[in-house]
Amino acid sequence: MAAPPTVAVFGASGNQGGSVAKALLKDGTFKVRAITRKPRKREAKELKRLGAEIVKADLDNEKSLFDALKNVYGVFLVTNYWEYMDIDREVQQGKRVADISNHLGVKHIVFSGLENVRKLTNGKLDVPHFDGKGQIEEYFRELGAPMTSVRMPDYFENFLDVFRPVKSDKGYYVLDIPMGGVPMDGMSVKDLGGVVLAILKSPENFIGKDIGLSTDKLTIEEYADVMSRHTGKTIRDSKISIKDFEELKFPGAQELAKMFQFYMSQPDRNKDLTLMLNPEAQSFEEWMSRNKNAFMNV
Ligand code: NAP
Repeated sequence: MAAPPTVAVFGASGNQGGSVAKALLKDGTFKVRAITRKPRKREAKELKRLGAEIVKADLDNEKSLFDALKNVYGVFLVTNYWEYMDIDREVQQGKRVADISNHLGVKHIVFSGLENVRKLTNGKLDVPHFDGKGQIEEYFRELGAPMTSVRMPDYFENFLDVFRPVKSDKGYYVLDIPMGGVPMDGMSVKDLGGVVLAILKSPENFIGKDIGLSTDKLTIEEYADVMSRHTGKTIRDSKISIKDFEELKFPGAQELAKMFQFYMSQPDRNKDLTLMLNPEAQSFEEWMSRNKNAFMNV
């Protein structure tokens, strides 16, 4: 019997790649080559224990990528804009993987892409962490590479981190997310793996497609209501304006304000298709019921 085809998973020590690597390992159709710059990391050791091959490579280093992508059937690629907040560097990383995959004849690449907002809005909005991924998508298409783009919505996990509820001076908690009452798509990043697995198993249906993902689309007030119910804390939409959000003092606030303006235009995120690809993907209600304890420390 032929050995299972190998899929190289970038970002395997992180949120997206970690979810993909674990879903593929659990399923067994593909062998997993987990790519990391630091094979001694705890997350890499855990993936090795689960059966992955751990390979050291760096998206900034062409030679290491050539070695890492030899003899693979497929690739899951995620680039991390936030590590350097440098769009040119992110685009170069993506193009490097596209060129090398093309040269080596990789059969299917699933790329964690997003829209080129700058292009879509004729320069009115620029959201570098989206725009760079949009440019990488375009480059794969220009090469004619067998690529599927999966466009993640806001992770539910952001509610435990960058968009966590903050205590207001009125004693209750608020979500400072400037959506102006427009519903926002979301999904647990832990459910990406099942989606990517289904796409890799059915290349004929998904190569050449850009797939917007979502498992729930709620207003900020609705997200806050679900959180309140599960935590017993009073959490509300602060109804912060885009302008006030831009002035919040954390790196990337201005860029994220523009992202929310783009989200308000309701980019295409397909809940039915996401749930068809991963029937176990959680709604926000389900995710909250499993994660409410994590909110105790927020
Ligand atoms: P993460 O958990 O911070 O993990 C980042 C991963 O990238 C790590 O595994 C790291 O691997 C790898 N990496 C970074 N630089 C690398 C390099 N030069 N060479 C090889 N690997 C490298 O990040 P994530 O959440 O999975 O993904 C971040 C991306 O998701 C961002 O670009 C963001 O724009 C996008 N995104 C986020 C959201 C959201 O709601 N948060 C939504 C849509 C899209 P090692 O350190 O092990 O080498």
